[in-house]
Amino acid sequence: MSYLVLARKWRPKTFSEVIGQQHVLRALINGLDQDRLHHAFLFAGTRGVGKTTLARILAKSLNCEKGVSSTPCGECQSCQEVDSGRFVDLIEVDAASRTGIDDMRELLNNVQYTPSRGRYKVYLIDEVHMLSTSSFNALLKTLEEPPPHVKFLFATTDPQKLPVTILSRCLQFNLRRLDIAQISGHLANILQQENIEFEIEALTEIARSADGSMRDALSLLDQAISFGAGSVTSENVHEMLGSISQQQLHTLVSALFNQDAQTALQQSAELSAQGRDFKKTLDELLITLQRIATLQLVPNLEESDSATDNSNHDQLSLLSQQIPAETIQLLYQIALHGKRDLPYAADPKSGFDMTLLRMLSFQPMQVDTNNTAITPNADAKPQVVAKPKLEPQQSYSEPVAKQQQISESTPVVEPIKTAPKPAAISNSTSTTQINSANWLDVTARLKLTAFSRQLADNAAFIALEDKTISLAIAPELAHLANDKAISRLQSALSTTLQYDVKLRVQQDEIQQSSSTLATERAEQSKLSQKNAKDAIHNDPAVAALKNAFNAEIIESTIKPI
Ligand SMILES: [Zn+2]
Repeated sequence: MSYLVLARKWRPKTFSEVIGQQHVLRALINGLDQDRLHHAFLFAGTRGVGKTTLARILAKSLNCEKGVSSTPCGECQSCQEVDSGRFVDLIEVDAASRTGIDDMRELLNNVQYTPSRGRYKVYLIDEVHMLSTSSFNALLKTLEEPPPHVKFLFATTDPQKLPVTILSRCLQFNLRRLDIAQISGHLANILQQENIEFEIEALTEIARSADGSMRDALSLLDQAISFGAGSVTSENVHEMLGSISQQQLHTLVSALFNQDAQTALQQSAELSAQGRDFKKTLDELLITLQRIATLQLVPNLEESDSATDNSNHDQLSLLSQQIPAETIQLLYQIALHGKRDLPYAADPKSGFDMTLLRMLSFQPMQVDTNNTAITPNADAKPQVVAKPKLEPQQSYSEPVAKQQQISESTPVVEPIKTAPKPAAISNSTSTTQINSANWLDVTARLKLTAFSRQLADNAAFIALEDKTISLAIAPELAHLANDKAISRLQSALSTTLQYDVKLRVQQDEIQQSSSTLATERAEQSKLSQKNAKDAIHNDPAVAALKNAFNAEIIESTIKPI
């Protein structure tokens, strides 16, 4: 038995079997059922989205011996001949190979004759934009006064190239690219009926590569079936496409976040050994980071392209909760630059490695209050890094400004945002104390939600007695001390202190002596503004400009660097 490729075997034979394109189907079905059909249709859309398939079903609907309807019987001779490509009144022309005027004249000369078997003569002209100008002119004359027994179905990937005179005489349908869920769902359905084993991730990967085209997806699926000797596993598909698996991506992102250079570079070496394409890998990394960033803002978002792949969604969702948004944004930016610079690297792997190293070096370090590593491998330990860190804004060549020696017993790291006083606090021993002297440092390092952050920043420390922390907040800011914010701040402080603390917030005028993070920041900002102004006014170059050009300093434009 000869093997029929999937794209042909599973070509939809009725409108109900067509995947997607609901807007087009509705119009065609209504037109057919009410027998009010235009005489010329233009199906526009990228390759493999179903243009000729729709045209053939339409030809069948018009010529079924049981009558014109949107549900041709599929059994009469006309239906069967259309399905097998032998129907004499369906004339299929590939305009890409028959562009000349002579071909078009010959074709149009036959238009006037009535159909030999069916009700309508259906002309299906594929890639119609390839016709020559004279061919278009000849076609236009027929379109202006079409015989009643003729329907024209044009298909094109490039409707812009059609003359307006032709466009204006067609009912135009724009076919959409199919999304990943539509394609992978259809592939899964086919494989189930073909009794072929498969993994969902493999189908998602094929769907992604097919880039909206069902025909490409089916032909990739054909390849994957023979590549995997009868089953479709994600490993085989990744090997076939040279792409990286979701699990490898998650491991990589975790390693980057955990400052685990060894695992990150190991992954890169593995990818290289597997012959993966590093540009594609950076693309996949960008997509993963983009998804994590999206999930951080819209946690309940049903991801259309991984709707059937729950484990992948769960892992991404976990990463989105663990990695701060700033870090994701930074990694994304570095990956984007890495992709841009990849062609200039000595070789793709070294370029990729360099991008990973840059991600490791320029990441804002996190306070990991739970001391848990984020990695799919439960037995992997967080890497303790004993090397200087750069702030994200510093340029690569700038000397390392803040060196911190970090030892195994005190995994002390810098907060995301620069705290006013970068002093180390230990969270791995029970000696952590909170007092009015270190309150600002401690709270600056807490991982908090927006509301609890506001509360922490605006509250002043009064005392810690009997595991109860008393805070004061100004009466006009009392609304910040709501139950949710208090409870979140309480649990963050408990984690840092490593015992359960209670939080009591009382309304009080903030004393001069007990500043809050908010007042401290305001003070700082005032001071740096004053310093900036002093620097400008005392600058000899500015003084020279003032003298030479009678220049004036516009005070409001002075900003501290
Ligand atoms: Zn029929």
